[in-house]
Formats: sequence, structure tokens, C-alpha cells
Amino acid sequence: MGSSHHLHVALLSSPGMGHLIPVLVLGDRLATHHHLKVTVLAITTPAETQFLKSHQKSNSPIDIVPVPAVDVSGLIDEKTQVFTQLRITVREALPQVRSTIAGLAHRPDALIVDIFCTQALPIAEELGIPRYAYHPTTAWTATLAMYFQVFDKSITGQFVDRLEPLRIPGCMPVRPEDMVDPLMDRDDQQYREYVNLGIEYTQFDGLLVNTWEELEPNTIKALRENEELRGVVKVPIYPIGPLKRSVESKNEGDGRDEILEWLDRQPAESVLYLSFGSGGMLTAEQTAELAWGLENSQQRFVWVVRPPCDGGPDSSINPKLEGGGGAAPDYLPEGFLARTKDVGFVVQMWANQIEILTHPSVGGFLSHCGWNSTLESLTNNVPIIAWPLYAEQKMNAAMLAEEVGVAVRPAVTPTEKVVRRQEIEAMVRTLLQHKEGEAIRERVKKLKVSGEIALSKAGSSYNSMCELVKDMEARMLTKSREIY
Ligand code: UDP
Repeated sequence: MGSSHHLHVALLSSPGMGHLIPVLVLGDRLATHHHLKVTVLAITTPAETQFLKSHQKSNSPIDIVPVPAVDVSGLIDEKTQVFTQLRITVREALPQVRSTIAGLAHRPDALIVDIFCTQALPIAEELGIPRYAYHPTTAWTATLAMYFQVFDKSITGQFVDRLEPLRIPGCMPVRPEDMVDPLMDRDDQQYREYVNLGIEYTQFDGLLVNTWEELEPNTIKALRENEELRGVVKVPIYPIGPLKRSVESKNEGDGRDEILEWLDRQPAESVLYLSFGSGGMLTAEQTAELAWGLENSQQRFVWVVRPPCDGGPDSSINPKLEGGGGAAPDYLPEGFLARTKDVGFVVQMWANQIEILTHPSVGGFLSHCGWNSTLESLTNNVPIIAWPLYAEQKMNAAMLAEEVGVAVRPAVTPTEKVVRRQEIEAMVRTLLQHKEGEAIRERVKKLKVSGEIALSKAGSSYNSMCELVKDMEARMLTKSREIY
């Protein structure tokens, strides 16, 4: 193979927009900056097909080919965890993946699969092409997954009952209360799925990770050099981040968002933005405490509120609620909207997060620490109040607060205990008012710059992607020699 210009790589994404978007972003990067021909094979439910069509219309540099997911309702029940459901859906879709690849006009030269598609490894083996996996979050969570096979064998009993942290060689220890959801119950199928996912990662030719050298220097070094770790995890690591979606361009005539206009009138770095990702919800009691903490802090805020997950007195959705106008939902304290109308903007359900975080008036983000939200925050100079809820978010929160020093975090785990208004008030003031907040902000600013440098030409993540392309070419040569 001569130049990389004609290399054709297929990217396989698992169902759900939250999984497809990071793969599209990776595909865009490979096509635009590294001149690869990219085909995204998206395992999709019918509902997602519409979005795919619209993405395809905008002169995208990548081809998107939907792979219809098969109905797995007979294989799951109401107790099946999302993690397990995803793995089952992908497993059942493998014949479709195989036939879709066979039907492509140009056979791919390499395959990159996302976190929930690692079971597609045999397809790449059959085709005799190089294969890589993409872990869309931190190197630390990837390392836990891959090294976990050791703990699975050496530790008995439930992991959540342990008092000792899990010690991964060369990495920050993982405290029992911060462990990823699949480890909560060893007897649940998602535990086994997680262990297998970690083992599968180690069998690829390389693992791409959405992180960069300056964010996780210790973990990345351990993956490259720590002999004890490398005894189990030999897969080459490619830190290629921070990759995130860009701001969607608004249609002409749409006008500027009301929230952004409100932000325009606030001082620089003075507003706290609060949101819990695409699906995060709080209890009614926690929602009320959060409102009180915010109000008592007397700081400015934009809050994406959702009806409480435990019902609460009024769990109906009123999308019209905005900045003090409209009727207050019952789950907010009596008079909250009226009392905070000059300093706060409350929006129900959803906001244009990237545009908000990009706004210079925003000075803090109370976040569930989903990885996309985290990157959107850090790459916009916004320090974090870490409020993890599910998946790997508690590990993200621990890393951001204790290892990287760009976040503050409540003393209790929000999913275990109610975070009280006094603590919320104190965290908000720390971030927006106190010296401690300034030190955190300085670290975020350094990190943002390091992320930009990493992605620019000759930066570490840019180089890492070049290494990946070189590795693909080298392996293609070897594999074609094996075949002929
Ligand atoms: N998001 C948004 N508006 C909202 C909530 C979320 O635009 O009100 C976007 C956010 O910018 C991010 C994604 O949804 O890109 C959420 O991803 P993340 O990994 O943070 O969390 P998840 O939803 O997977 O828990």
C-alpha cells in the first residue's frame, strides 16, 4: 500500500445517538485531517434512520450506511440492564454487519469498532484486515475494563462490599464507591458482559481512547511502560482526543437563543450551568435541595431542570417554562423562580449545551460528568462541580477532582445520599467566588490549551492518529503476505 490517501476504513457504531455521535466525530477527524476514506456502519433502530439521512445530506466527508438492528425483545426482559441490552443487540446484528460489509462497493482495509461492538472482532479476522477498538472515554476506565480479568479471578465476593480500592498497576486506585455500574452486582449478566468487553479490548491491534497525554499522563505511561500492567494489557494505546462534536450551525432567521441573549448580559465567568446529560434525573428531594443551594449561593445560573425520577408532586413536562415566566413546576420550591428571576435562567428538559458552555459568561458547570459533557466543559475553560449519576461517571468525577484537579465534588455520592443545600451552596461559591476556584480555573485553562495543542499538527493526539494510520498500513502489508 502506498500513500494513505486511498485507505478505506470502516467504523462500526452501536445503537443510540450517544454512541453514533462519537463515532461520526472520529470518522470526520480521520477523513478531514488524515485523508482516509471513511464508511460508518451504524447499527440503528428505525427511529435513528431519520437523523442519519439528515447528517448524510450536509456535505459530510464520510459515508454512513445503516445496519438494521434485529428485534431482541425475546432475549431481554425488564430486568436486563442497558449495558447487557447493547451487547445483545450488537451480537444479534453481527450477521447483518457481515452482509453489509460484503455489500460495500469498496471493501474496507481496516475496521474500527466502538465500545459496544467489540464482539465484531471475528468479522475483521475473517476479512484478514487490521482491527481497532474505540473507547470514547478515559484511558483510566479503559484500563480498568482490560485489567479487570485479573480481579475477576483473584477477588471473591461482591466488589461493592469491599473496603479496599482496586489497585491497577501504575494507575490511580479505584474506590469501591466509584466503580462503574456493571461491577455493582457480580451475579447480574452485565458483570460478565463487562469482563468480556475488557478481554475483547485486549485482542485488538490497537485501542483508540478519547483522551490526551496531558489529561492522563500517569495512566497512559502505565499502559506503555508498566510491566505488571503490560503482562495483562499489551494492546497499543492511541490517545486521540479531545474529540467532541462541534456547534451545530443555526438556520438563518432562527434568531439567537434566548438563553444566549441572557448570557450576553452577564459578567464574564459568572454563571453556573447545571445539566445532567441526555438522561440524568434527580429525586424530588434532591431537586429541591439543589434549588435551595443555588438560591442561597446568590450566584448566577442556567439550570436545565427535569421532572424528578421518583415522580414527585408534578412530573408533567411543561416545555414553556423559562426564566421566571410560566407556571413553576411543583418540584421546585415555592417562589423559587420569582426569587431568582434576576440571577437565574431555568429551562426544562434540554438546552443547547455546547453553545452555552462556549459563552464567556459561563464560569462553572455542575455536571453528571458524562464524558462528552466533561470534554465540552474543559475545552471551553469551564471548571466542574462533579455530580456523577451512572455508568462510568463516578470514576470520571474522582479523576477530575482528585487526579486532574479541575473539579470539586460533594463529600457524599449523590446517588447514595442527598447532597444538602449547605454543601451545594459552598461548592458553588468555591467555584465562582473563592481563591480555590481560581486555582481550579487556572488548571482548566492550561488543560484546554494542552488539548488544542494535542490535536494540532505535530501535537500528541494528531501524531497518535498518524501512528495509527501507519500501523494500519504496516499490518495490511503483513496480512496480505499471510494470505498470498
Ligand atoms: N446535551 C445537550 N443539552 C442538554 C443535555 C445534554 O446538548 O440539555 C448534550 C451534551 O452537550 C453532550 C451530550 O448531550 O454532548 C451528553 O453526553 P454525555 O456524554 O455528557 O452524557 P450522557 O448523555 O451520555 O449521559
